[in-house]
Amino acid sequence: MKWALIGASNIAGQWMVDALRACGDEVVAVVSGDAQRARTFANAHGIPHALDQEAALTGLGIEAVYISNTNEKHEASVLRAAANGQHVLCEKPLAVDFQAAIRMASACDTAGVVMVTNHHLRHNAGHRAMREQVAAGALGRLSSARLSHSVYLPKPIQGWRLTDRAAGGGVVLDIAVHNADSLAFILGEYPTHVCAMTSNTGMANGLEDNAMSIWQYASGITAFTHQGFNTPFAETHLQLHGDAGSLHATGVLSQAPGGVVALSNTSGRTELPLDNDNLYQRVIRNMHAAIAGQPHANADGWAGVRSLAVAHAVLQSAASGRTVEVAYG
Ligand code: NDP
Repeated sequence: MKWALIGASNIAGQWMVDALRACGDEVVAVVSGDAQRARTFANAHGIPHALDQEAALTGLGIEAVYISNTNEKHEASVLRAAANGQHVLCEKPLAVDFQAAIRMASACDTAGVVMVTNHHLRHNAGHRAMREQVAAGALGRLSSARLSHSVYLPKPIQGWRLTDRAAGGGVVLDIAVHNADSLAFILGEYPTHVCAMTSNTGMANGLEDNAMSIWQYASGITAFTHQGFNTPFAETHLQLHGDAGSLHATGVLSQAPGGVVALSNTSGRTELPLDNDNLYQRVIRNMHAAIAGQPHANADGWAGVRSLAVAHAVLQSAASGRTVEVAYG
């Protein structure tokens, strides 16, 4: 499949170009708002066409676009691709504005193109193993989840995330969307209510760099989630607890494959075997399946809408000091 990259971004260069090629796809063009940055990116990654506007993609035979410009720009790029009949892999959060995200998923539906939200974490082997254990009833009746996804924002991406809400900055829009998707993938549901507190610990400029929240699910599960940019020495954890067993995962909330998942129950503690492989390649292979009309495990456009709804609820709750119902639209 022939792809164009919309955005000369860090993630495109670090992960996605290699992932697309490893899946047998072709990266035909990169589009940047700055012609020189497009050229530099194209040279660094051996991409034939370096463009400074999406309109210049016409005639290149582009079948799919990977959109990783800053979040307020995703909508225009998705609408353009849908209108051109191109399949869409869009970065998370889908948008800053919730209604924009709905317009994006709707436009792809109307155009009959596949839309994927790049919630790669659900493809982590630990996530998949946890989902299987839950589905098989290994934990009995689930009561709670604890998700600790506080990291240290690496220097090369300490730009708009720390300063610019309009571009989707702040730890909630950046990380809570992933957490909502991870738990939805494993539990099969999204929270109905959210209660949150956020803080600025001095790393971000006028935005939250730390957020803790409690999410309530219709099934009765409550989940505690922690998202942070500001913890250089923290490890990530994901735990699920039921009356017949608990799952304890470390290192499964990462871009790289890996992590450990252990099941604790009356028989003791057993580490689960994990078939680790590249998360982003799994996103692309699942997208190929969706385009072929086959079952797939990706987060689609509407999953991206729902994860954004949860992040918005976290921000609303933190701002109001009240528990809020998640508005899924
Ligand atoms: P970057 O800051 O690297 O890139 C975003 C945009 O910023 C680029 O498209 C580019 O604009 C512009 N830009 C990049 N470098 C420079 C520079 N040196 N000077 C001026 N402008 C520059 O963002 P990320 O790669 O961190 O994130 C991009 C998207 O991907 C976001 O939506 C983010 O949330 C998401 N993301 C998702 C991850 C995942 O695992 N799913 C992980 C990391 C990010 P232009 O296109 O005009 O050149």
